[in-house]
Amino acid sequence: MRQWYKHVVGIETSSSYPAKDHAWNEISGRYVPVNDFYKPANWRKQSLNNKQASEGSIDDQKQAEELFDNTMKQIIDSYNKMLELGIAKEEARIILPLNQYTEVYWTASFQAIMNFIELRDDPHAQFEIREYALAMKDMMFELFPETTKIWLDVYETMKTLSEPGKTIK
Ligand SMILES: Cc1cc2nc3c(=O)[nH]c(=O)nc-3n(C[C@H](O)[C@H](O)[C@H](O)COP(=O)(O)OP(=O)(O)OC[C@H]3O[C@@H](n4cnc5c(N)ncnc54)[C@H](O)[C@@H]3O)c2cc1C
Repeated sequence: MRQWYKHVVGIETSSSYPAKDHAWNEISGRYVPVNDFYKPANWRKQSLNNKQASEGSIDDQKQAEELFDNTMKQIIDSYNKMLELGIAKEEARIILPLNQYTEVYWTASFQAIMNFIELRDDPHAQFEIREYALAMKDMMFELFPETTKIWLDVYETMKTLSEPGKTIK
């Protein structure tokens, strides 16, 4: 979600539409308890030639899963106990990790969404956000088949032409 939030175009300040002034509207952990967490199906290896990336899988998947499960259990138990103690959700949530699911409304133009797909359905993007970009691409093909096809055809052509040795005739 933190990566998706970096896509900020869509901010709209002129109308009286309820989403006015912001492109993002998120169900807030200040008033809804958090109870849904992502668990990876595969523990990936740190890439050696790209500090920001991963590749393949680590060997000891079992130990990684155990570490994850134990940590998550402790965090969720503590979070729930803090709520039972009467601690405000806005404060208790500071112990929650990045894998919490959230619910957002994203107001964005067609162009902003295609920009998201171009950048995030890409081998350099993290696996998890790439999955969302692929889902978004399917939705765009369903909702706007003609325009999405034209856009992606042009994008693929531009990408090919930007490869070394290719020229625009
Ligand atoms: C592989 C990858 C790695 C990344 N790593 C990092 C990282 O390490 N740290 C980090 O902070 N971010 C990182 N990012 C996020 C990246 O820097 C962008 O913030 C993010 O991809 C949003 O892209 P965008 O600005 O094109 O999108 P949008 O905000 O949706 O903007 C869409 C387009 O609108 C135009 N635009 C946007 N804002 C302006 C403006 N103010 N003025 C004029 N034109 C504008 C630009 O043409 C832009 O491409 C990474 C992104 C990717 C894909």
